[in-house]
Amino acid sequence: MRIDTEVKLDYKNVLIRPKRSDLLSRSEVDMEREFRFPHAKVTWKGVPIIAANMDTVGTFEMAKALAGHNAMTALHKFYSQEDYKTYFEQEAPAAGINPWARTFFSFGINEQDVENLDEAMKLAANRPEGEPVFICLDVANGYSERFARIVERIRKTHEDAIIMAGNVVTGEMTEQLIISGADIVKVGIGPGSVCTTRKMTGVGYPQLSAVLECADAAHGLKGLVCADGGCTVPGDVAKAFAGGADFVMLGGMLAGHDECNGQVLTRRYLTNELDENDKQIVKEEKFLEFYGMSSDTAMNKHYGGVAKYRASEGKRVEIPYRGGVDGTLMEILGGVRSTCTYVGAQSLKELSKRTTFVTVSQQINEVFGKS
Ligand code: 5GP
Repeated sequence: MRIDTEVKLDYKNVLIRPKRSDLLSRSEVDMEREFRFPHAKVTWKGVPIIAANMDTVGTFEMAKALAGHNAMTALHKFYSQEDYKTYFEQEAPAAGINPWARTFFSFGINEQDVENLDEAMKLAANRPEGEPVFICLDVANGYSERFARIVERIRKTHEDAIIMAGNVVTGEMTEQLIISGADIVKVGIGPGSVCTTRKMTGVGYPQLSAVLECADAAHGLKGLVCADGGCTVPGDVAKAFAGGADFVMLGGMLAGHDECNGQVLTRRYLTNELDENDKQIVKEEKFLEFYGMSSDTAMNKHYGGVAKYRASEGKRVEIPYRGGVDGTLMEILGGVRSTCTYVGAQSLKELSKRTTFVTVSQQINEVFGKS
């Protein structure tokens, strides 16, 4: 046993120090980034925010809405090949959207997943000339040797695909995945809003430090990282980018919207207020379900129950209904743009170079709330 006593940081443990800036307005800040990849020989340009591949967030509806802002969506893995075909070849083009540059196909690594991936790549083979194809290979624990081998195999069979793989939280495994064939490494174990991994297993890594360390390792190999999980407010998204994340993946912040494909549920409750007849006033609350992909809820829905040998590592929550996602996305982009103006970064690309984090004492966190 060994104890690493170096302090590791979460988003809530830091703030970004303002710097002299000659920017006049946040509207001057360019939120798009252009990337090259270590393996796929393509260039991509867009807003590097990705809706998480959860079945309550990574939907076709979300993909359409986010594509309208040049941002991306990792589709959840429970769509059928027919669904993909309809979306990629009819629905998205009819909505004036190029789905290829704005959408990840997501898969796990079981046999069925690998079969589904091969089928999806047949559809991708017919994409318009010059369009990229994005694959998200997602496992809870990216440290298994088998995972690295599968990444390697998929890289060999799909040379031109942009492959994002994870999740990991340390530099050496980030390097391993990039060497195995990943272009983007997904970073985060345990920070998710509906994740219970840290409670159930004691495993995890404070997310900002994970992003800093993995980004450093990835960039040394010309690879990229995606900070996945733990952002609860636009300032957290800014801190992830400032810490070196090339992409940021969001679950909870994009949940609760029309595009989540969930049922809007209504709860009525008695308040302590009285009406003119001295009757207790009844109020209504609208909400949507949001749950972790390894929660009991997800397991029951997609696999008919939780396997005996495993415990659920996710939970179900109710998110107040928030209408369309456009407003939320504008708020997130507005927040990050504003961060850039505070540190004098003319573009998102410059944000991390111009960032100095200051650590915030635990006491202050407690006085002012967690974020
Ligand atoms: P959020 O943005 O909600 O904080 O985090 C979203 C991320 O949480 C997802 O992209 C995924 O990596 C992770 N996640 C989703 N469902 C589960 C789950 O059931 N268990 C765990 N451990 N992580 C989850």
